[in-house]
Amino acid sequence: LYREKIGALAEGETLRLKLLIHKDAHLHKAVAEIRKDDEQEVKRIFMTEKLQIALNEQITAELWSANLYLSMSFFLKREGFEGFSHWMRKQYQEEVKHATAIADYMTDRNAIPKIDKIDVVPQSWKSPLEAFEDAYKHERHVTQLIDLLVKTASDEKDNATQDFLWGFVREQVEEEATTLHIVEKMRKAGEAGLFFMDNQLGERN
Ligand code: MG
Repeated sequence: LYREKIGALAEGETLRLKLLIHKDAHLHKAVAEIRKDDEQEVKRIFMTEKLQIALNEQITAELWSANLYLSMSFFLKREGFEGFSHWMRKQYQEEVKHATAIADYMTDRNAIPKIDKIDVVPQSWKSPLEAFEDAYKHERHVTQLIDLLVKTASDEKDNATQDFLWGFVREQVEEEATTLHIVEKMRKAGEAGLFFMDNQLGERN
């Protein structure tokens, strides 16, 4: 009888133990699944270090562009072209908006926007034409920077950033077309035509 009782007890204990192990395995599986969900959540919110660095470099580049156009605005005003100067001042504001748009986007994604040291910009040009030619050349360079940024976002498998950057890709098409159009008009315009253009560009909102 004793032996039977001990046997039953042992059997009962084994069963309880088995039940515990079973529960534990279940728990482990559930915890692992929650962790996996968490990791995916983290991936969705946070962007990779590489992409953060690339976006921050773009913020600095946009601010350099802003300074370039502000410098052109100073030069053009000095030369007596109030309208061209006003146009460049507007362009300067646009570039600041590009920088803040990237920063705001990064903050939304729990990334950290940063401003690096901004290099000195040119301070004078031979003529308004040369300033606008430089503006066009610079916009072509910015297009390359944006294209590289899209590639980085794609390499880092960050769909949201790619989607965000398409707006900048479209913007660059406009920026290049606008500055080239002004350059071409300026090349055709004589002295009188230049002052006519100055009035026209002064109307930019
Ligand atoms: Mg820009």
